[in-house]
Amino acid sequence: MNLENLTKQLIQIESISPNDAGCFDILESELKEMNFSCERISYKNVENLYAVIGSQGPTLCFLGHTDVVPTGPEDQWTHPPFSGETHDDHIYGRGAADMKGNICAFIEALDAFLKTEKLDYRIAVLLTSNEEGTPEDGFIDELLEELKARGETIDYCLVGEPSSSLKIADTIRIGRRGSLSGKLKIIGKQGHIAYPEKIINPIFLVTDLIKILKEKKWDSGNEHFQPTSFQISNINSGTGAGNIVPGELIMDFNFRFCSESSSEDLISSFEEILNSLDLNFELDWSLSGNPFLTTKDFFIKKIISAIKNVTGKEPLINNGGGTSDGRFMTAMNAEIVELGPLNESIHKIDENVSLADLKTLRDIYINLLKNLST
Ligand SMILES: [Zn+2]
Repeated sequence: MNLENLTKQLIQIESISPNDAGCFDILESELKEMNFSCERISYKNVENLYAVIGSQGPTLCFLGHTDVVPTGPEDQWTHPPFSGETHDDHIYGRGAADMKGNICAFIEALDAFLKTEKLDYRIAVLLTSNEEGTPEDGFIDELLEELKARGETIDYCLVGEPSSSLKIADTIRIGRRGSLSGKLKIIGKQGHIAYPEKIINPIFLVTDLIKILKEKKWDSGNEHFQPTSFQISNINSGTGAGNIVPGELIMDFNFRFCSESSSEDLISSFEEILNSLDLNFELDWSLSGNPFLTTKDFFIKKIISAIKNVTGKEPLINNGGGTSDGRFMTAMNAEIVELGPLNESIHKIDENVSLADLKTLRDIYINLLKNLST
């Protein structure tokens, strides 16, 4: 199947996390035609597809996901989110850039490469259907533990996430920041608004805390990462009545942290601040990922040279953005690089991908596959 049709077919499947909804069936039949041995491995509510070809040498693994985020208000889309319509050489639809188009670009690259070259290393394709969802449904961490226990190895991991900024392949990622979230409950004393001596207003209690948190420098970052950032996403308090001072306030917050801070450091600094203000509080933490960074440069150099061969330009290395499933690959000790299409439209209304960009990406992937031959 050609790149455009394959991408369209996948976009037309409503695979909202944690559902694959049939994308694997299409991709598995493409992979089987190329003689990959394919297996479905399920954990919790999530099915994963693991396909391998080759019997010797190091393993390159392409890591991707077939699930997509919800569409938002469908009537605001110019092209319906599951139509896969093409307009001005762009394919529209939820998941076009994140990341169904890129999976198809890699599949097409494999097809071209395996038809003409003799394979002297191993290639794996690992696809999940819950990259965008919640850990309760299951991520790929347990699956990787199973593969490791079986003696599977992954030396180089190409994550197909949309890394490009303004032009295709202008940016790659070799690491990501960590993400640590917290839910804080500040406890006051509810009462009639006219009796200040009988109440403790949790909204006043939080003002000093917010000022300190806003000004606090958690670290200074380093050459690979910007400094750790702290943000508040929600604050809720109040009963709805105008004559009641509420008894509690809930604040949701998140750290995007670099490799200069650990989650333990951040948790203890945060709790120290709360204790210094003498607050009565309850606090729940959830760690969605530690920072990772590829420090060996073999695979990074191979990718950079593939990009230069095709586009004539050297990419920028930038480790910003959210977390990715790349973080789990550190368990395999793999060299991890992320390279995919433009991230401008991802998760937005009218998500789209340029067909020309997908073809360039396919050519870069072909170049990389050839570069990895010894
Ligand atoms: Zn993605």
